[in-house]
Amino acid sequence: MKVSKFGGTSLADAEQIKKVCEIVLSDDDRRIVVVSAPGKRSDADTKVTDLLIATAQACLSGGSGTAEMEAVIARYADITDGLGIPEELPAVRAGLEGLLRLDKSNPAKFMDALKAAGEDNTAKVVAAYLTKNGHKARYINPGEAGMRLTDDFGNARLLDESYEQLARLGDTKERIIFPGFFGTTKNGDVVTFPRGGSDITGAILASAVTADVYENFTDVDYVYSVNPRIVSNPTPIYEITYVEMRELSYAGFAVYQEEALLPVFKRGIPVNIRNVNNPACPGTRIVPKRERPTGEHVVGVANDGDFCCIYVSKYLMNREIGFGRRVLQIVEEAGISYDHTPTGVDNMSVVFKQSQLNDASKATITSRLINELGADDVTFDHDLAMITVAGEGMSHSVGIAARAAGALSNALINIEMISQGCSEVSMFFAVRGPDEKNAVRALYDEFFS
Ligand code: ASP
Repeated sequence: MKVSKFGGTSLADAEQIKKVCEIVLSDDDRRIVVVSAPGKRSDADTKVTDLLIATAQACLSGGSGTAEMEAVIARYADITDGLGIPEELPAVRAGLEGLLRLDKSNPAKFMDALKAAGEDNTAKVVAAYLTKNGHKARYINPGEAGMRLTDDFGNARLLDESYEQLARLGDTKERIIFPGFFGTTKNGDVVTFPRGGSDITGAILASAVTADVYENFTDVDYVYSVNPRIVSNPTPIYEITYVEMRELSYAGFAVYQEEALLPVFKRGIPVNIRNVNNPACPGTRIVPKRERPTGEHVVGVANDGDFCCIYVSKYLMNREIGFGRRVLQIVEEAGISYDHTPTGVDNMSVVFKQSQLNDASKATITSRLINELGADDVTFDHDLAMITVAGEGMSHSVGIAARAAGALSNALINIEMISQGCSEVSMFFAVRGPDEKNAVRALYDEFFS
C-alpha cells in the first residue's frame, strides 16, 4: 500500500486536480491520498491557506470577514466548475460561511478552525470528483478517523494514542481522501500542525498503516543538492538518508516539512518525493540507509538566514561549574529556542533565529548575564546566515572541513563561526547575511562541480 500526499501547487486549480486524480488512479496501491489546500497558481497568486488566515484576522480585528471569505469561495468555485461538479459548491460555501459565525473568544482556536478549512474542502471536492467519475473514493474527516493532537493551536503534535485507531484506515476497501494539516484535540477542537503540515499528516498515516512507501508529490523532479534559486541546474539527489534529509530540511530545504520525517523514520518507511507535473520521473528517495558509490561524501549544501548570536565572555569561565547551564537558562526564560552553542575557553555563543528577540528581551538577557553571571562582555551579533554542508559519508573522510573553509576563503568570505557535532553528519558555517548566497555557491562548486 502507498500513502500519497499532494502539495498545494498540485491542487491549485481544476487542471492540476485532474492530474492528481490520474496519478492516483494509475496505481491501485495508491489507496490513501492526503491533500493540501489549493496553493498558488502563479507567483503573484495567494495560497488558500493564506486567504483563510487573512479572513480569520479580519474577523478577529472586528470585521465581518465576508469579503475575505468570498476570495476563498471564488477559488473553490473555479475548481468545482473546472471539474464539472458545480453542484458541490453550495455545501462548500455554506461550510465556509458557517465558520465566520464560530466563537472568537479564543483567537488561536478560531484561527485554526479557519486554516483547516482549506485542506478539508479540497479533500471533499477531490472525493466528489472521483465518485462522480465512477471511482470508489471516500472523504475521511481526520477527527473521526482518530487524528488526535495536542491543543497547541498552530503548532500541534500527534498524541501517540492516535496510531491504534488510524491503523484501521489500512483495512478500508475504497480509496481514502484525507485532508492534511489538521486533526482534533481531546475536546474535539480543530487544531493544525505548523505550516506545511500536510506532509506530517501523510507521514503519520504512512506510519499508522505501515505503508510500503510514502509518496510526497510536489512540483519539482527531485530534491536538489542546493537551492535551485541560488545555483542553476544543481545536481539532483536520487537517494538520501533520513538523517541527511533532516539536517538539510532544518537548514532551509523547503521541499519536505522538517517534522514530517519522524513518523516514517520510526518505522523505516521510505519517502519518495515526486513531481505531479512529471510523474514519469522517479524522484528522490529518502531511505534509512544510502547505497552510494564511495567518494560521494557531501549530499547537499543548505542555507538559512536571519540568525542572531549572543556572545558571552567571562575570564576563567571554563572553571565555573554550571556557567553554560545558567546562560542557557536565561535564554530559555526569555522564550528563545536556540540552535547552536559554539564555545571557546572563556566564551560561549548562543545562536538562534532572531525573530524570537525583541528590544525588551535583549535588555533583560544582557543585564541578567552581567548581573547574575558576572559576564565581562555580552554582545549581540545580528543578521547571520548559516550554511550547512551535510552528508553521512563525511564522518569517514578526511579534509572535508579544510575544503569547505578553503572554498569560503577563496571566495573572500569571512567565516564568523563553525560548528560540527560528533555525529559528523553536518557542518555549519555562519557568515554575514550579505555573504550568504556567495558562500552557498562557493561550497556547492567545491563539492559538486
Ligand atoms: N496548507 C497548509 C500550508 O499552506 C499546509 C500544507 O500545505 O502542507 O501551510
